[in-house]
Amino acid sequence: MLIRFWGVRGSLPAPQLPSRIRSKISAVLERLTPADLESPESRERFLAALPPWLFGTVGGNTPCVTVNPEDSQEVLVFDAGSGIRELGETYAQERPKPSQYRLFFSHFHWDHIQGLPFFGPAYDPVVTLDFYSPMKNLENTLKGQMASPYFPVPMESMGCKKNFHFMDDSVILDGVTVSSKKMNHPGDSWSFMVNDGKHRFIYATDAELSGEDFLKNEKNTQFFKNADLIVMDCQYTLGEAIEKYNWGHNAFGPAVDFAANWGIKHMVLFHHDPTYNDRKLYNMLQSAKWYTERMGINGIKLTLATEGLEIRL
Ligand SMILES: [Zn+2]
Ligand SMILES: [Zn+2]
Repeated sequence: MLIRFWGVRGSLPAPQLPSRIRSKISAVLERLTPADLESPESRERFLAALPPWLFGTVGGNTPCVTVNPEDSQEVLVFDAGSGIRELGETYAQERPKPSQYRLFFSHFHWDHIQGLPFFGPAYDPVVTLDFYSPMKNLENTLKGQMASPYFPVPMESMGCKKNFHFMDDSVILDGVTVSSKKMNHPGDSWSFMVNDGKHRFIYATDAELSGEDFLKNEKNTQFFKNADLIVMDCQYTLGEAIEKYNWGHNAFGPAVDFAANWGIKHMVLFHHDPTYNDRKLYNMLQSAKWYTERMGINGIKLTLATEGLEIRL
């Protein structure tokens, strides 16, 4: 199973500001010594030793994650934030191009649907898009954001074949089962679990954890226990999470506790706050790692979600 990250930012796209790029370049120059410039190899060594928050960026697009299950032609897309535009362009270069995409929506907050009008394959008549949501009014909601005066082109202009599915509990596709679970978020949201018979992947964003999520009941156990990978909402620092209690997002502390509670092997911190810069996000990852050490939590791998990240299970 291949998991690819196209958008990792929460709430609002957050493009790099010119001032931030300038301060990155300035910090790189401060680290440079004459010895680093001596040869192509020394220059490469210098670049490779830079911290990731300097040499690169977490990315500014809103949520979009794809899963290509093992031994299956399915392309599963989780949320259609602004990252879906790049996904469409990348897949359009593939030969053969995918002729079908299955799009799952955690909920309909703007940051999870706003990229759909810019998803190139939707305008290709040979493509079929299958839309899934456990929320009612899927078709009308998606059409609504493209209605005048919000967008110049109505959804009817998308030339692809479109099928809208109300997702009750789970759907069985080509060798893959996708299950849903309602989570705590203003207006509700749903997490999804993908099981291809070899691995289990969970997409859990816009999900403010509560005591109920830790209960060892049947539904929770089936959904969360011993998953191979979870993409988890970790929008806030610990301090901000206290100020923003009930806003529908987590700090890394409860998220790590949750993953440990369920024996989840790998957690990806996701849905980054649009006001946090790259350095702050990598500091949060470091703090989360220190937290696991301090709490004696072993065996959980932690990764920061970044645009372009690929994880193969
Ligand atoms: Zn969101
Ligand atoms: Zn939301």
